[in-house]
Amino acid sequence: MSLTLTLTCFSAFVSYIKILPQPFIYFVSHRTCILYSNCFPTYHTCLTYNLTVQCFCFIKRLLQLYFSIAGNNSVYMIMSAPHARSRVRKDDDEIIIDPVYHALSRINGDINRMTKPQLQHHLNSNGLNEKGVKEVLMKRLKNYYKKQKLHMKPSYVEGMQHYPYLVVLDYEATCEQQNPQDYLHEIIEFPAVLIDTTSTERMDVFHSYCKPTLNPQLSEFCTNLTGIQQSDVDSAPDFTTVFTNFETWMNKHDLFAPRKCAFVTDGPWDFSRFLNIQCCLSEIKYPRWAKKWINLKKVYGNFYKLKKPKMMDMLSNIGLEFEGRHHCGMDDATNLSRIVQRMLDDGAIFQFNERLNSGKLEVISEKEKALLSSYDDGNADVAEATAVLTTSLNHLHL
Ligand code: AMP
Ligand code: MG
Repeated sequence: MSLTLTLTCFSAFVSYIKILPQPFIYFVSHRTCILYSNCFPTYHTCLTYNLTVQCFCFIKRLLQLYFSIAGNNSVYMIMSAPHARSRVRKDDDEIIIDPVYHALSRINGDINRMTKPQLQHHLNSNGLNEKGVKEVLMKRLKNYYKKQKLHMKPSYVEGMQHYPYLVVLDYEATCEQQNPQDYLHEIIEFPAVLIDTTSTERMDVFHSYCKPTLNPQLSEFCTNLTGIQQSDVDSAPDFTTVFTNFETWMNKHDLFAPRKCAFVTDGPWDFSRFLNIQCCLSEIKYPRWAKKWINLKKVYGNFYKLKKPKMMDMLSNIGLEFEGRHHCGMDDATNLSRIVQRMLDDGAIFQFNERLNSGKLEVISEKEKALLSSYDDGNADVAEATAVLTTSLNHLHL
């Protein structure tokens, strides 16, 4: 009895300090017990997963010791995760994979064999959206059953998103028909859409044009591409003012709080190039909130298993059409946020996948993703000028 109490306290403590998901210990009889974890890989990080396994091994040894003294050796270990067997040390061979995952794997197999009309029929009969290409429909149906099955488990953790809010952003910048590689783009449109990841609702919008200073006259090509008129930028505040206004907007929504939001962009250029160059030109310290971001193309491609999608493909694959004018920043951001909303509905998890490090674009590896859940991690104080940029700026005597 005292061992039961000790283990239960230990399990509660581990859960309380939020290192590990709570391991449950069921005493089936006074001679047999089952260890069980609510750890599953899409929510808990690899680190917590491995810690859970180690913690389980430790508890298991304690129990084995206890039972061997009591004259029995019945300890079962159940990990609610696929591949549990490969992750547990070899000597811990009494592993039973949770039956829910067996059931899910069977359902996924059935879904893989379905034709598009069959998928649409199943989605329809479950009251789900049936628009999109086959890959999208398969993912939607698999996630529906996954959610349903996991909901039945007492250990199901609601709300698997890493951030309560996403900010979808799409800059427009000055440009020429054939931009030279060291072309100094200036941001001329700054649109952002705030999305609540729980309700998937669009909560607010920030929008402003910015007056360029290095190239105040927009090229004809730029106006034709973006639809931004010379008068729009002439009457707009400069980037420094818009940047301050944007941070005030972020503050209004408490978005500077740790783990509160993540930025979503269509590719890496918005932050790694446009904002990076603009901060140098405007002599603004590169902001912490833009050090890491979510490249939507990558999340989309990985989630629906569709390769290198462009914005138009991303929309049409999920059965949506572009609304407004392509390359108008506000319309681009709005359409990207429609994609994000549909993906949230379909069960996609949004997590940082790119970052700027000493001015260089870096991809965040799967292993690192497990450890990164906030942009608030310290090393963001250095202005993010790349060597190329610094050279260009020196050349221009800025
Ligand atoms: P987008 O988000 O695709 O609308 O593009 C953002 C910015 O990239 C535009 O405002 C331009 O400065 C630049 N850009 C996009 N497409 C082109 C293009 N075809 N040629 C030159 N610059 C472009
Ligand atoms: Mg755009």
